[in-house]
Amino acid sequence: MKTKYIFVTGGVASSLGKGIISASLARLLLARGYSVTIQKLDPYININPGTLNPYEHGECYVTEDGAETDLDLGHYERFTNVPTSQANSVTTGRIYLSVIEKERSGGYLGETVQVIPHITDEIKNRILLLGKTKQYDFVITEIGGTVGDIEGLPFIEAIRQLRLELGKNALCIHLAYIPYLAAAGELKTKPAQHSVKLLLEQGVQPDIMVCRTEHKLSDSNRSKIALFCNVEKSCVIESMDAKSIYEVPLLMKEEGLDIQVLKKFGINTKTDADLKDWTAFLKKLFNPKHEVTIGLVGKYVELKDAYKSISEAFIHAGTSLNCKVNVKWLDSEKINDKNVKQQLQGLSGVLVAPGFGKRGIEGKIVAIKYVRENDIPFFGISLGMQCAVIEFARNVMKLRDAHSIEMDENTNNPVIALLEEQKTTSGFVGNMRLGAEDCFLKDDSLAKRIYKKSKISERHRDRYEFNNAFLDVFENAGMIPTGLNLKGLVEIMEIPKHKFFIGVQFHPEYKSTVENPHPLFVAFVKAAMSN
Ligand code: GLN
Repeated sequence: MKTKYIFVTGGVASSLGKGIISASLARLLLARGYSVTIQKLDPYININPGTLNPYEHGECYVTEDGAETDLDLGHYERFTNVPTSQANSVTTGRIYLSVIEKERSGGYLGETVQVIPHITDEIKNRILLLGKTKQYDFVITEIGGTVGDIEGLPFIEAIRQLRLELGKNALCIHLAYIPYLAAAGELKTKPAQHSVKLLLEQGVQPDIMVCRTEHKLSDSNRSKIALFCNVEKSCVIESMDAKSIYEVPLLMKEEGLDIQVLKKFGINTKTDADLKDWTAFLKKLFNPKHEVTIGLVGKYVELKDAYKSISEAFIHAGTSLNCKVNVKWLDSEKINDKNVKQQLQGLSGVLVAPGFGKRGIEGKIVAIKYVRENDIPFFGISLGMQCAVIEFARNVMKLRDAHSIEMDENTNNPVIALLEEQKTTSGFVGNMRLGAEDCFLKDDSLAKRIYKKSKISERHRDRYEFNNAFLDVFENAGMIPTGLNLKGLVEIMEIPKHKFFIGVQFHPEYKSTVENPHPLFVAFVKAAMSN
């Protein structure tokens, strides 16, 4: 089968859940036996979200091959269990960078370099590349932002051209918001109609309308949307608020989204999507037998999207154990020696979050001291592990000024430091360790018991590392490195005397999916349950 391209645009408002709709459609197509990948095109000028404050777009998600991407890619992987890559995340910045680099190296000699055709050609290449590198049956391309945004214009123009070039092998799904006017007591379809008008002005006619709504669409709502947006009535798909994002594939199936897509492509719809495992997951998710409360200590607590992959990993792990995990969000800036007991009261486990920079660091260290001394299950991720190392050095090894050189360049005890080779790398993002790396686990460690194998591969996003000059002193004091990479860098730290105390330099949360809950999260939730 020739690769089919599905474009997903959004109208009326942002945050309607284009990512979840794209991921749900992918799930449905996978459940019919097709191969599918999802790509996100983001109209902002940053090369990637790696340098963005989480307040802007939430968490930065990292792929196997080290792309720093939008958090929607996390949803794609969690729903599909198919890894994404550099090619699945493209920003305006990256497009312009490629075009400008090509211009500088003489690639367009004699030509005036313009938005059309050069920028749009580059966008089209990035979309088509996914169908070429691996022969996917379907490539779903989600366009970030809302139609009408100035910065989104080249992307919509690229879609217009591609639809013409690909003919029957491309279609467009437009997701629009249908607001409910309480005073009038009715749903209003006009904003959605207007957003389709905007798309039409740019030359794109949607084939399918997905209508995000808080109330059920009436038959006359559907007729109106069909009439004014030029789509068949069967292609007006209702997308109601769901109890969980993981319910959306089922809701989309009930509305026939996958069937309409297949019909538009002229593909046989006789076989059905096999969602047995997905339904079983939902059944467990909605009927937990146990409940546990875990503290998540971070500095973006008012912004839960900053730790999206962690909270989703808890859902996957908890569900596999028939357990509802309540996450209590704790602001590390508000934790101190005096209130730590009260702040962590009633928690069955504590996770200390990843992060960058000094803000809130001392609160994390105080929280770790408390859980270490009180034998409460602890799980530290990246900066969380580094804080555990600092806390241990200060309070057990009595190196009072121990720190990471990220926070204190002049400490006499830099237990977390930069590698020599990193010091000479130029550029702000140049010396980051990004993407998957192998890690070797020591026999007789908690990590090995959890993973049940000696060699694992996990994703990184960090700049600083455990300083191996301190290896022996830590081991002698009872904090043991149990996972090392090929170069001998410490990836995992444990306190074996403790019930469950593990810190990892990598980010296991990125690899947790509905199909494969991450073993570290499962083990941590289990430890919390029996605490
Ligand atoms: N700031 C730390 C480092 O760069 C930890 C990074 C993280 O938590 N991902 O190493």
